[in-house]
Order: sequence, then C-alpha cells, then structure tokens
Amino acid sequence: DTPPAPTAPRPAGEELAELDRRHLLHPWTPYGVGDQLVLVEGSGVEVTDAHGNTYLDGRSGQFNATLGYSHPRVVAALTEQAGKLMTYALLGSSNEPAVRLAARLAELLGEPDGRTLFCNSGSEATEAAIRIVRMYHALRGQPQRTTVLSLADSYHGTTLAAAAMSGSPLAWTGCGPLPEGFVRVPTPGSTVRDRGEVRPGAEALEEAILAQGAENVAAFFVEPVLGVGGIRPLPAGYLRAVREICDRHGVLLVVDEVTTGFGRTGEWFAHRREGIRPDLLTLGKGLAAGYVPFAAVTTTAEIAEAFAADPMLGGLRHGHTTSGHALGAAVSLAVLETIEEEGLIEHAAAMGERLCGGLTDRLKDLEGVSDVRGVGLFAGIEFDTFDRATQVMLGCLRAGVIVRSEGPVLAVAPPLIVNAAQIDRIVDTLHRATTAATG
Ligand code: PMP
Repeated sequence: DTPPAPTAPRPAGEELAELDRRHLLHPWTPYGVGDQLVLVEGSGVEVTDAHGNTYLDGRSGQFNATLGYSHPRVVAALTEQAGKLMTYALLGSSNEPAVRLAARLAELLGEPDGRTLFCNSGSEATEAAIRIVRMYHALRGQPQRTTVLSLADSYHGTTLAAAAMSGSPLAWTGCGPLPEGFVRVPTPGSTVRDRGEVRPGAEALEEAILAQGAENVAAFFVEPVLGVGGIRPLPAGYLRAVREICDRHGVLLVVDEVTTGFGRTGEWFAHRREGIRPDLLTLGKGLAAGYVPFAAVTTTAEIAEAFAADPMLGGLRHGHTTSGHALGAAVSLAVLETIEEEGLIEHAAAMGERLCGGLTDRLKDLEGVSDVRGVGLFAGIEFDTFDRATQVMLGCLRAGVIVRSEGPVLAVAPPLIVNAAQIDRIVDTLHRATTAATG
C-alpha cells in the first residue's frame, strides 16, 4: 500500500510553504492556523506533501477524488483528449465526449430522453438549476413562480444565489444584498441531537409552500445526505414524501447529488434508494472524480423542450465559455467506465458498511462523541464541541490520515477504491485521536 518512491526531485517544502502563505488566498480556510498541506503528488488513496510526508486521504480531496490519485485510465483519457481536441459545447457547437457523456448519463439515470447541461462546478450547477426552474415556469405562463425553497441546514454552493439558498450563515453573511426569493424549510430530524426534540418531517415543506402561496413557488432543492451541514442522511421516506408534495403543488424537485452522486453512498445515486424521479439533478465532484473542474445539471425532455418557446432566443439562455469541456467529458466517461468495470459501486457499499460499522462500534460510546452516522463511504462523527473535533482532526493528520472538519462534525469519505486494511487504519486512527483528545 505504500506509494512508489517519488521520481522527481522533491521541491523545497519550506520554500513552497512560504510562497503559499504569502500569495495564495485560501478558500474556506481560517487564517493563522498554521501551514497548509501543500500537496505535490498522489497515488491510489495516498497523497504526499512538499515536506515528503505521506497521508491516507480519508476525505477524497474535497469529497470528489472518488478514484484516488493518478488513476492510469483517467490520466490516459485526459491526455488523449487533450492531444486530440480541446473544445466546449455551447453556441451552436458540441463535441464527441460531451455528446457521449450526456447519452450515458441519460442511460444511467433511467431517463431515455434525459438532457444534460454541463458546467464547471457544483455552485454553477445550482445556479443553472435556479435559472432553469424560474425560466421554465415563466415559459409555461407562470412567471410569478420564482420562490426557491431549500433546507435550513443545506449547502448548495458559494456563488451568490447558491449561497442565499444555503443554510450556514458562513455562506452568505456580509455578502449582501443577496438575490431575492429564497426561503428555508426546517431540516427533518436525523441526528442524535434531534432525538430529544420533535423535529418536523416533510410536512414542513408543505407548510412552507402554502405560506408562500403554492402559485409562487418554483422549486425545492434538497441533498439526499446533508454534506457540509454535518453528514446527515435524510430520514427514510423523506424524499418520497417531498416528491408527492411537490407534485401536488406544481413545484419542481431538484435533487442536489453534487456530493452523493456516483457511488459515494454505495449506490450510483442516493435518491435511488427512495425510488423517486427528480425533475432536475445537480451533479459535480464524483462526475470527473476531481481530475478536472466539471459538473452538470440533468433534466427531463419535457423541461428541456420548453425552452424552444423562449421568445428572446428560442433556446436556453444560459452557459459558460467552457460549458461541456471536452476534457471534462472525456475524463467523466473514463470515470464512469472505471466505476462500472471495477465494480466500484458494490465495493463502495461493502467498504461503507465496514467504515460505518467500525466507527459506530469503536467510537460511538467514547467520551466527547455525540453521534456517529453515515451511509456508504460518507460518514460523520459529531463531537460535543468544535474544539474537540478540531483536536481529533489534527491528531489524525499527525498520524497520517486526512479527515474533513464541518464544525463539530468530522467527515470521513475516502475514495471508492479504498480497501479493507485502509478502512481499518482510518477507524483505528480516529479511535486513537479521539481517546487522546478526551484523555
Ligand atoms: N452542492 C453540494 C451538496 C455540495 O456539497 C457542494 C460543495 N461542497 C456544492 C453544491 C458546490 O460545489 P462546488 O464547490 O463545486 O461549487
């Protein structure tokens, strides 16, 4: 399991750390907490920093490196396409990988005529979905249907409208004025903390729709497992119930599978577990497995066809310079083939059971741990305080295992290719770091 010895001369770690401190504006990182991990190479589930330390990446980059690092098949697809054609899909042109990928996604989603719009990040996918649902209703004679509902603890991205939808004040405080028309719905109970209180279920969505006036509501956006909100799987039956409520009121259902899509929860898509059909689906992270910035919005033929009636363009007025980038699409096709041929969905489900089972057995009753939860290779350990979670995260890092902090919750989400011994190492390391942080 040890990665091959690096072949290139090691860059000066100190020099890189100094340049990093002076010149990089670090996204979503508190200043003054010490040096960043400046990574220089990776192989399988391991990454190496500029000082030569190797880590097991227990968070898959940013939940996206589902095939780990330097995957030969993905690297080959990327370099082959780069040498063949670098282009995009908008303004009257498209390209072979984008066309093939859109067709493959339709097949995977069981939507024979499903359509896909490609973009570059999950936030852009959210933004595109907001524009699509509002324009769709307007084209169907309901221009007043503009209000977008989302869960109080959701996270849908950092661009202004996506941030306005997201629950955490970290996403939007100080960035106003924010776009209008976003209303939050109480998050259904799913954590140990909730058990003491009576938390609303799907009826809270219907109440919000009625309070806004159903005729004013465009869509409800929902993540099947709240990720940044603390790795909180929605209660069983919730998605089915909100699907019915949306149908009853003419509200579109947008499922955000940016984080959960492509095997993270041990299924191709997490919403499958509930057997529902979303009107739109946002995808990102695992789509290109982090090898290039790439994301997508998929929708039904019926919604896509409505844009033919747009009086200004006769088509969808949305897109970016690099929409449908051929490199992103070629990489994603290779990622999907790899997941299929290597049986990684079934593997992720098995490894996920080992991870969630191991964490529950070994950590649930430790002092300072309030809850252990998760689905597939997407687990969360909630601590009693933010400080304790940070201490445990730093303890894991010193022991060579990277996990991700979401406030008082530590997120564990290794690449889908992780093996049993590596899962056991993650669980052992978390156990030791938690004991040390409470001793
Ligand atoms: N939706 C969800 C559920 C996410 O977790 C994220 C990112 N963490 C986003 C959207 C935004 O994606 P990106 O960071 O690629 O803009």
